[in-house]
Amino acid sequence: MGTSMKRAAAVLAVCLFAGCCRETPEEHLSDYVSTLVGTQSDWTFSTGNTYPAIALPWGMNFWTPVTAGSEDDGWAYQYGAHRITCFKQTHQPSPWINDYGAFSIMPFTGDDGVEHASWFSHKSEVARPYYYSVYLADYDVKVEITPTERAAVIRLTFPESDRSGVAVNPFRGGEVAFDGNLASGYSVQNHGGVPEGFRNYFVIKSDVPLEGTFATAKGEVVTLYAASSFISPEQALLNLTEVEGRSFDEVCAAAQERWDSVLGRIRVSGGSEERMRTFYSCLYRSTLFPRKFYEIDGDGNPVHYSPYNGKVEPGFLYTDNGFWDTFRALFPLLNLVYPEVNAEIQAGLANIARENDFLPEWASPGHRDCMIGNNSASIVADAALQGITSREDLEALYKALVHGTENVHPSVGSSGRKGHEYYNTLGYVPYDAGINENVARTLEYAYDDWCIARIAELLGRPEEEVALYENRSANWRNVFDPSSRLMRGRNLDGSFQEPFSSYKWGDAFTEGNAWHYTWSVFHDIPGLREAMGGEPSFREMLDSVFRVPPVYDDSYYGFRIHEITEMQVADMGNYAHGNQPAQHMLYLYDWTEEPWKGQIHIRETMDRLYSAAPDGYCGDEDNGQTSAWYVFSALGFYPVCPGSGQYAVGTPLFPRAEVELPGGRRLVVTAKGPGPVYNDIRLDGRRLHDRFLDAAALKKGAKLSFR
Ligand code: CA
Repeated sequence: MGTSMKRAAAVLAVCLFAGCCRETPEEHLSDYVSTLVGTQSDWTFSTGNTYPAIALPWGMNFWTPVTAGSEDDGWAYQYGAHRITCFKQTHQPSPWINDYGAFSIMPFTGDDGVEHASWFSHKSEVARPYYYSVYLADYDVKVEITPTERAAVIRLTFPESDRSGVAVNPFRGGEVAFDGNLASGYSVQNHGGVPEGFRNYFVIKSDVPLEGTFATAKGEVVTLYAASSFISPEQALLNLTEVEGRSFDEVCAAAQERWDSVLGRIRVSGGSEERMRTFYSCLYRSTLFPRKFYEIDGDGNPVHYSPYNGKVEPGFLYTDNGFWDTFRALFPLLNLVYPEVNAEIQAGLANIARENDFLPEWASPGHRDCMIGNNSASIVADAALQGITSREDLEALYKALVHGTENVHPSVGSSGRKGHEYYNTLGYVPYDAGINENVARTLEYAYDDWCIARIAELLGRPEEEVALYENRSANWRNVFDPSSRLMRGRNLDGSFQEPFSSYKWGDAFTEGNAWHYTWSVFHDIPGLREAMGGEPSFREMLDSVFRVPPVYDDSYYGFRIHEITEMQVADMGNYAHGNQPAQHMLYLYDWTEEPWKGQIHIRETMDRLYSAAPDGYCGDEDNGQTSAWYVFSALGFYPVCPGSGQYAVGTPLFPRAEVELPGGRRLVVTAKGPGPVYNDIRLDGRRLHDRFLDAAALKKGAKLSFR
């Protein structure tokens, strides 16, 4: 009952709102999106750990309503909260990484000089990517926000009051000054990843003086035009021209049009309203990060403040991304559907390679110490192999990748490779060498080496150089324990870790256990199958992930981390879709004689663990990765091994899906019958002899049919 009431409320909200931006009755895909999906989260239990980002796709500045009482709280907006404390410009990619450069505004009436906060209700809230509005009950003020890439327009509708105001908060350490109708200042907020002197310079123009209070008549509208720059106050004013002289409705209509166009690259049809809402909410999340960190100078050229050297540099830069998460499906999705965006991202990565020695693994905005692996190699390889990267940029990227295989960043342990000395000589990062999460590192470095070998080939590097990385890509075998048929810690002396529990999270692994990480041989699934003893044994091990109980050993962490709880409550044994390491696993049934088992699990995961409700994810969404899994899965295929140019087939969710590809080509996916099991899979009418598709074949434009 609750669900249907919420849906009715959401539909009503859309109808009431439709008059604001557009009068036309045409379908707006952006109105299927709820930005509240994933906001019913806290640090003990994540259903997404998202916030309702008011943004353009990949925009430099997002805005969000805030329910948190402290500017330090990463859980800025929680669905269950009752009060809104402010609206902030945000750059936060994840509550665990937190925000930087944020500042906020809060309208009020009556008393000022106190902590501002107001009760609100989701019944008087509209949360779309291009438009957010909420009624602040305590102040009788309606707030509406609409974005451009680096600016926003905020429309405030006040009641009759002789003391109305707008509080501007530059956050701790920042400053704001008022000059008539212009507020200007800067925020220095950060949680690392910035050089000395980092500032986000902001400007807010209004039609009233923002210092102090002013009188308003009932229904009086105050409009704020806000923008910022990481470069300079002058650049902030330049960025403000994105909105200056334009009405709220004009900016809102343009924002909606932009979202409709980006979301419209994939048109699904024939499914239920609920599936449409889930699909487009996931596609929205897949097109937010990494975000632009570059600005456009007075001559119209891209230019950026570099968080890597503190200088203003020419060209593109994108940031706010954990590659450990997003190499898996998010970047392959960009390469298929939005290659022009990834072209800018890759150019930005090449700029990073010129501005410092290391590629980032977790950037926000510069190097952050979070997670493991060296998966920038995958990000670079998948794009390069699909022809997205220029030769000059690829040379710079390759140099940085090679550097990363032999070094670890002096102050940020997750950039480069911790344990490279062992890995490059012994062939694995030992369990007893004092380096945490050593098996996970070995597995990811091995896959990353395979990616580097592909780039080396592409660049025509000497044979022995290609062979070096190719050989290292087999290092996963060094941590495979034939007796348990699982990955397991390996000591310096070659013996396996004792005692060993397949249920132990962390320790040799990263936010997972042996059941999750054993499948992280993305580039050599047939090799893993043979190592396990062949097809029946490989299939048994896949089956076992679901058969074993959802028990766990959390002694490495000393408490039950939220990812463990999210695995348990899903009722899928030890399958953990709420975290990223195992998200490709369901597709490994394509390497067995029972691929239909994968289709059943994939469909169950889509239908049961995803929705368009505030608790619509089953763990941290993580910058589009968990959403991109859904988008690919709904299309009926998935990139198990980015860099291979190959997809594994699954089970399409909609009777019809059309993907708009570059050059006016189209990929059309059709499904006859409800599924989830489809045996007759055809590409351009020819039945597939296996379960795999070439990205190159799809990108030419193709018809993929499932029966
Ligand atoms: Ca995660």
